[in-house]
Order: sequence, then C-alpha cells, then structure tokens
Amino acid sequence: MELKTVDAGLLQSRYRLTKQRAAVLRALGDGTHLSAETILERVRSEMPGVSLGTIYRTLDILREIGLVQVFSHGGSAARYEAALEKHHHLLCSECKQLTNVQADGIAQIAHDVAENAGFSQIDYSLAIVGKCLTCAAIPKNAVT
Ligand SMILES: [Zn+2]
Ligand SMILES: [Zn+2]
Repeated sequence: MELKTVDAGLLQSRYRLTKQRAAVLRALGDGTHLSAETILERVRSEMPGVSLGTIYRTLDILREIGLVQVFSHGGSAARYEAALEKHHHLLCSECKQLTNVQADGIAQIAHDVAENAGFSQIDYSLAIVGKCLTCAAIPKNAVT
C-alpha cells in the first residue's frame, strides 16, 4: 500500500513556506525516512550556509504544521519524513529499513486503551520490528 508523498512545491504555495522550510521538504521529497544529518547534507547542496541547528528547528516547525513526521525506536536516531497521513512502521532490525504501513484497527485499540485510563489528546504509533524479506534470506554468519 503506497502512501502519498508530499509535494514540496505545492505545499510551499499553500503554506507560504520559507525557502529553508521548502528546501527541507524537498530533501525529504522522495518519501524516505532520513536522519537530520542526511537532510542537512541535502539542504546544503542548495543552501550551503545552513547549520544542523537550523535543520532541527525547521523540522520542529514542519512537524507542528503537520507536514513532517518523526520516527525513532529503541533509542536510535530520529528519522524524519514528509508525510501527511497517519501511518505506522515496519522496521528491519538488520538493515534498519523503515517501511510505511497502514494498520487498520489500531486507532480503535489506542482510543479504547486511552479512554479506559482516562487519557485524552492521545497520539500513538505502531512499530513492528523484525527481519525484512531480504535480510531473512541471508544466513546470520554471512559476510556482508
Ligand atoms: Zn532488512
Ligand atoms: Zn513513515
């Protein structure tokens, strides 16, 4: 199931994004999950003076607007993506590949659990960790 990716050009006009914000969105434009460092490298190819701090601040703002989502699991470095739709992730424990998935039914479970505990304004996400098809096919002692 393919999720729609974000069109930086379209969003730039709709949200009147600054050049910097649009550049960060473009860096994320191919629909992958990137670390802030990788985003920095990509943005620097258009805007050489940009610092990592600026990238983090810009990512925070884009998250508040709802154009960027962040994923981190088990203390690993956060990875960012341009995505509008709520989704969940399959994470390969070997190659760290992240795949976007929908998980029907999770919303209901999350809301039921939260309601039972008296929680409101909840957020939730599902991370399923395992071995992807490719990694499962490689014997554990193989030289990589
Ligand atoms: Zn894998
Ligand atoms: Zn994702």
